[in-house]
Amino acid sequence: MKNIILIAAPLAGKGTESARIKEEYNMPHISTGDLLRQAAARNDEEGKKINELMTSGQFVSDEIVLNLLKNRIMQPDCNDGYILDGFPRNVEQAIEYDKILKELNKETGIVIVLDIDKEIAKSRISGRCSCPNCGKVYNTNNPELTPVKENLCDDCNTELIRRSDDNPDTYEERYNAYIQKTEPLIDYYEKKGIVRHVNSGISSDETHNQVVKILGE
Ligand code: AMP
Repeated sequence: MKNIILIAAPLAGKGTESARIKEEYNMPHISTGDLLRQAAARNDEEGKKINELMTSGQFVSDEIVLNLLKNRIMQPDCNDGYILDGFPRNVEQAIEYDKILKELNKETGIVIVLDIDKEIAKSRISGRCSCPNCGKVYNTNNPELTPVKENLCDDCNTELIRRSDDNPDTYEERYNAYIQKTEPLIDYYEKKGIVRHVNSGISSDETHNQVVKILGE
């Protein structure tokens, strides 16, 4: 399977769709947000800095992100393709990522953009929660994504948590960063002829159906 890059505004459903592709196609799901949350939990100097930036909705430095990313895609489970969720986040990262791919003799693969109206994405904030153990994402505003037992993970029964950056003020910061820094990436990859668009504002099933169709082409 080709590598997949998912590009989307915050709360558009990258994490949910990545989990579904992972399950159906048995591909590793690499979320730089998750890698950074693990690094932040170390609570050393670098961890504290990462935590500060993430809590305020700002980007973490390209150097830190690229190091974590490169180490992760060098793992053997990435040899037959992987899903990137939240990376690259700006054109500079994409340029550096191209160099890493060349060095590791890997291809970019396909870029899937999840298109969504800002207000629909923002309205999902109040219900989002996730499992700190296995990373599964839920949303209590959406019957498709509500856990069976209140506040417990369906897969591992761990108590669900809310992200500290999931609040309306930080959302504005994160959304603006998306428009200014991440959206130009679509043009960058359009030039390589590898971009496909999906409407992710309807339901997670509908998003997934469109993605499956693209991956089957
Ligand atoms: P996410 O889980 O993808 O929503 O990311 C949460 C936060 O992690 C973002 O708001 C950024 O602070 C940071 N982050 C995740 N991926 C990147 C990246 N590729 N570059 C810079 N910062 C990132």
